[in-house]
Amino acid sequence: MTRRESASDGTRKYLWRLADGATVESVGLPGGGRLTVCLSTQVGCAMGCAFCATGQGGFVRDLSPGEIADQVTAVARDFGSRVTNAVAMGQGEPFANYESTLAAFRFLNSKDGAGIGARHLTVSTAGSIPGIRRFASEPEEFTLAVSLHSAVQSTRDFLMPGVRRWPLAGLRAARRDYTERTNRRLTFEYALIDSMNDTA
Ligand code: SF4
Repeated sequence: MTRRESASDGTRKYLWRLADGATVESVGLPGGGRLTVCLSTQVGCAMGCAFCATGQGGFVRDLSPGEIADQVTAVARDFGSRVTNAVAMGQGEPFANYESTLAAFRFLNSKDGAGIGARHLTVSTAGSIPGIRRFASEPEEFTLAVSLHSAVQSTRDFLMPGVRRWPLAGLRAARRDYTERTNRRLTFEYALIDSMNDTA
């Protein structure tokens, strides 16, 4: 661990330095009998979201499955507690590093790994339609979340230039197909930004 910051509610934010000197962040969120880890899947990110410091810095490299899963192991060690939930919502677009993210999730799901239930392992995508469609065909019951941030195409294009190539109409169809195929709901994430996306 390179740096750790703790909040009064028990949340801990970590900065890890990797073998090649690159750094990534994770967050540990305890509460309600659970310990959730928000983990990174890439060093930097190519999506360029307007509200995100990582996006402004650009993409550096993908993380390996071990580097992704190790974040969970290290947070569990720091809390002295089993991790019950993990969500790929830190730095990076998980579906841009699909194989490594899935390999890490399979390890975290396995009895020899972290033993985290598949439904408690969540991919949060900026809105990669090919990723959503591929994820729907995986045998495990992993969970999906999609960052929406605006239902107005032009506003979303401005806030999330990296997903302009996957317009909302296509995202809506992929959402419907995902639900029909898996019989599972997905979650939409929406960050309210004053005067940008917080009006009716
Ligand atoms: S996808 Fe996530 S990490 Fe990447 S720029 Fe957008 S908010 Fe930041």
